[in-house]
Amino acid sequence: MRYILFFVSTLFALSALAEPLPPQRPDAIEALKPHAPAPSEDGRQLGYAPAPESQTRVAPPLAAGGKDFCSRLLASKNIVAHRVASIHHGACGINTPVSVTAIVEDDGHQIEMIPHPIMRCELASEVASWVIEDLAPRAQKVGGKIARIHNAASYDCRTMNHRAHAKLSEHGKGNAIDMRDIEFESGKTVDFVGHGKDRPFIAAIRETACERFNTVLGPGSDGYHEDHVHVDLYARKHDLHICRWRLR
Ligand SMILES: [Zn+2]
Repeated sequence: MRYILFFVSTLFALSALAEPLPPQRPDAIEALKPHAPAPSEDGRQLGYAPAPESQTRVAPPLAAGGKDFCSRLLASKNIVAHRVASIHHGACGINTPVSVTAIVEDDGHQIEMIPHPIMRCELASEVASWVIEDLAPRAQKVGGKIARIHNAASYDCRTMNHRAHAKLSEHGKGNAIDMRDIEFESGKTVDFVGHGKDRPFIAAIRETACERFNTVLGPGSDGYHEDHVHVDLYARKHDLHICRWRLR
């Protein structure tokens, strides 16, 4: 029965993908519903508990988003960001985009976002919450304070994976960010591939990202994300999350 449910959920996932993916390698991370245990590479369950509702969320989630949400986000002490002009470019665009300079931990430490990503406020809020609540505390244990996060892309009016005739990417709506690596204050840099001694840290990061974001595509997913991790807030039926990110 368990295998039947797994098969059905996989069909659901493949039919609802924001970015169409090729057939999956057997050792890749499978699609999962939010707060469900994520299967590990060898098929065992990672077994994390459901995330409690955050008490320190940078801005509370709102169904409709909009001006008030952005105002509250920009007023938060946990983010350094400013509004940029509305973007309308064919099917692409963001009504109230923000440019994020840094994410600020509760102790005042600033983690720069390089280059400054342009995003919808809802994504900026979720990324900031992820960095403060999930990433920074785990990073502290392996390398101390994070100085900056290097990004590969944020708003970008293009098709999925730059393929001709593909659907509009979530990047074209300011609803996605590609992150390349983490640079610590010590100068140490950790990418998202997760090899060597960084593997347990990246595995933990992957778990939190897949719990929080609606789509997570990392190295080992589809050949388009080998040197970065893509996260977005694409809303699917049944609140389905897609998590594909294979550690080396
Ligand atoms: Zn991306």
